[in-house]
Order: sequence, then C-alpha cells, then structure tokens
Amino acid sequence: MKLHRTLALTFFLSLLVGLPLAAQWAVTEKPDLDAIYKIKDEGLQRSKVMEIESYLTDVYGPRLTGSPNYNEAADYAQKTMKEWGLANVHTEAWPFGRSWQNQRFVALALTPRAYPLIGYPKAWTPGTNGPVTGEAVVAIINDDSDFATFKGKLRGKFVLSVAMRDVPAHFEAPGHRYTDAELVDLSKQPEAGRGRGGRGNFGGAQDFNRKKTQFWIDEGVAAVLDFSRGDGGTVFVQSPQGVSRDPKGPAQPAQVTLEVEHYGRIWRTLDKKIPVTLQMDIDNKFFDADQNAHNIVGEIPGSDNADEVVMIGAHFDSWHSGTGATDNAAGSAVMLEAMRILKTTGVKLRRTVRIGLWGGEEQGLLGSREYVKAHFADPENMQLKPEHAKLAGYFNVDNGTGLIRGVYLQGNEAVAPIFQQWMEPFKNMGMTTLTIRNTGGTDHLSYDAVGLPGFQFIQDEVEYDSRTHHSNMDVYERIQPNDMMRNAVIVSSFVYNAANRDDKLPRKPLPKPQPPAGRGRGTAQQ
Ligand SMILES: [Zn+2]
Repeated sequence: MKLHRTLALTFFLSLLVGLPLAAQWAVTEKPDLDAIYKIKDEGLQRSKVMEIESYLTDVYGPRLTGSPNYNEAADYAQKTMKEWGLANVHTEAWPFGRSWQNQRFVALALTPRAYPLIGYPKAWTPGTNGPVTGEAVVAIINDDSDFATFKGKLRGKFVLSVAMRDVPAHFEAPGHRYTDAELVDLSKQPEAGRGRGGRGNFGGAQDFNRKKTQFWIDEGVAAVLDFSRGDGGTVFVQSPQGVSRDPKGPAQPAQVTLEVEHYGRIWRTLDKKIPVTLQMDIDNKFFDADQNAHNIVGEIPGSDNADEVVMIGAHFDSWHSGTGATDNAAGSAVMLEAMRILKTTGVKLRRTVRIGLWGGEEQGLLGSREYVKAHFADPENMQLKPEHAKLAGYFNVDNGTGLIRGVYLQGNEAVAPIFQQWMEPFKNMGMTTLTIRNTGGTDHLSYDAVGLPGFQFIQDEVEYDSRTHHSNMDVYERIQPNDMMRNAVIVSSFVYNAANRDDKLPRKPLPKPQPPAGRGRGTAQQ
C-alpha cells in the first residue's frame, strides 16, 4: 500500500512539473494504480489475445457479414464470453440482405504454357458452375463506343478488362511505425477543412458500371478479370462497386481479381498475338434464407452506477480473400481480451461495461449504425432514446495490429485533459499522442453521429495499408503479439477509468438531424 501511495504522489508531481500541456490543465483524474497494475499484470503475463486471434482467423476466418463463417465465429465469441462469466451475452439481428461465401476456387492457364493462377472471386459474384475452359481476350470498355467493338465476340471468354500497369520494385519496407516527429505533426490542429475524412461519391461512374456489368452478362463471358494494387502474391479484393445484396437485385457476371504478375503474363502473351487458354472452377454460394446479420454483445455489470454504460467495440466482419486478421480480428480480439482482463482481475467497475462486435462494417458501418439507432438515437431525426443519456463513452479499435500511440479526439476538446492523464501510465509503452482531428471510416462514427463520445485510437500502421488491408495476406502471421497485448491493456485501463470516474465523458453539442445518405450498397469502409 505504502509503495502505491509513493507512486501516486510521483504521478501527481510529474503532472505538476512535467508536460507543459498537462501543466495547463487541472488534475482531475485519480488514476488507480493498483487496478492498472493488475490490468497490466493480467494482460502482459497471462494474455489470451493471440489465442482469440487465431480462432477468429485460422479456425473461423474469413468472416464476411452474414456468412456461415461469420455466424460460427459469432457462436465461438459468445461461448467464450460466457465461459469468462460475462453477462447478457447475446446477438442482435438487423436486416442485411443475402450473404455469400466462396467454397472453391481453382484457376489455371492451360496453353501456351500450363501454370497456376493466384486469384480471388469478388464477393457477391456468381461462380462458374463447375470447371470452365475458354480463351483469354482483352476487352477494355472505357466509354459507350467500346460496346460496339466487342459486341458478340465474348461468349465463353475470360475477359482482361483493364490495361496492365507497371509494377515498381519496393525500395521501402512495407512496415512502418510512427516516428516521434510524425506523432507531433499528427497532434497539431489540422488546417480548416482538412482531416475530415470525407468519402468521394461514385454517383456518375455507377451508371456506366451498371451498363458494363449488364454487357458482360449479355455477352455470356466466362469471367471478368482484373488485378489490384499490391504484388508479390498480395491481392486486394472486395465486392464489385454497387453490387446488390437483394436476391432480386441486378445480376453480376463471374469476376476474379488476379495476382498482377499472373495477369501481366497473360496480357503480354496475348499482346504477341499468341492465344491463351484458361480454366477456372469457382463455387460461390449465396445465402438467401436468413437475410439478417448479427451484432454480438456481452457485459460486465457495474455496481453503484450500473445503469450507466461504457461501451467498447470493433467490427467482427471482414473481407474474404485472407482470414481478416488485421481487419478486423485484431480489434475484435483486443476488445474481447479487454473484457476478459477486466473480468478476470475483478477490478471494481461502477458503471456497466458492454462490448459490441459489429457486422456489416465493410458494407458501410451497417451493424454499429443499426445498434446506435436501436439503442440511442436515429441520426436522421435525432430523437434521443433513454439509453442515450446513460452512455459514458465508446472506444473503437479498427486500424490493424499496430500499437496504440494515442487517441483521435474527434473534435472533442473537453476530453483532452482527461485522456492526457489516462495515458500517463502508458507513456512507457509509446502512448503519447492526442490529436483533435477526426478519423473516419469506422464504427466510432456511428456514435459520434448522434452526439455520443465515440473514439478511435491512433495506431502504428505496421503493414496495414501496404500489405493487409482487405488483402489475401491479411492473415495471422501479420499480427504483432506484443502490440496486441499492450493494446488490450491500454483499452482495459481506459475503460476502467471511464467506468469509475464520477462523471461521464464530456460531449460535443448534439448534432442536427442528418438526411439519409445513399449508404449500404457495397461502399467499402476501413
Ligand atoms: Zn476495418
């Protein structure tokens, strides 16, 4: 006990004498170093985070929303939370549409040489109904005049639909961690209008895309081929733009994204007027019976303030070519582990702590939006539900496996001095930075949209953008165990502080009702 009193004293002194930033703010937070000690000890000495990660990826991955894999992974998560003694473990259904899963994919070049092809079907596209053999042809359609060029010439053909690109060498390492200078820069107030993280609209291009899609179907192509960014075996694959999850919606042809080097070999062979024959056997299943998707929820009940809630969350769904390891089994595993740490250590929680694992994030933050609408408020009319006043805060992880280096404050100035003090015990782990900036594209936005304090952590990039984000190489081997353990400890501690401080986290002014945006039809998120 005496030791901790000394530590607490040292902590307060460092606040008074240490950081100019901190010196500007009154010391409001009383960090319970005993609890943080227990949390660190459990999370760093007896961590389960990598075991959870391996189940979500190696055993159940990938987890495309609504797919059998997703639903089995959801059963695993619920069973595990119950084994840990969590309460109120359940799923909440919401309308999503049909789901999809690839069951078999074989692609080969047969002539003039036989070689295997690395590639993946795009999500929500049909298969080939058994093995199909056909010629490869180049048919690039950029405007209306191109339709006439290829009309009647593509039946049973594998269509190279985009022009081959250069594949530059990699002179920079794919992995990166924030440097101190980069973190200082990130902490600066952005110029007006920047850092809003808005999304471009695809309005005009979508009409032409729909026309092109129908043309491929009318032509009876075997499959439409393209390539992605990435090389050296890494292929980035999602669903076709504007794809419908309505069984009665517009049809799609079979579509495959090939490894760029394999696409290049076919392209250059055809360029020499040498015919190329390919064979593909693609078995994709559509699931129309249950068109609902499910969020997974669990709790650790609070004590004297149990009717108020601190929420943590991450999206549970992933794209389909890898096992969804960094996106976003990493966030899901860290949040599950944080619940395990808080439960196992038995640290006192005044407020209830609730985890939400969301589906449909990759299709437009669908699961978290549905949850917020059902429990707190609908951003379209901003009529607040009783639970809105009871939420102390929401924390999200969805930037890969990298170490937490700080927090995006989402424009919430008032929370800065609080988080500054909560970060203190983790400075020695590299967590140093607050930025007033917004960060976009993931589930904390669903909370922010109805005026609830929702935050995403700043994380080291590692190989997120360069290698794993929505790729076939998003697999367990890309996960950094030390980062994951530390992230679970940091999240547990932030949640502990939020559950026990006297007041809920400060909020920004309530936003005005927002008219519905054209969401939910295949727009990719983080
Ligand atoms: Zn994500």
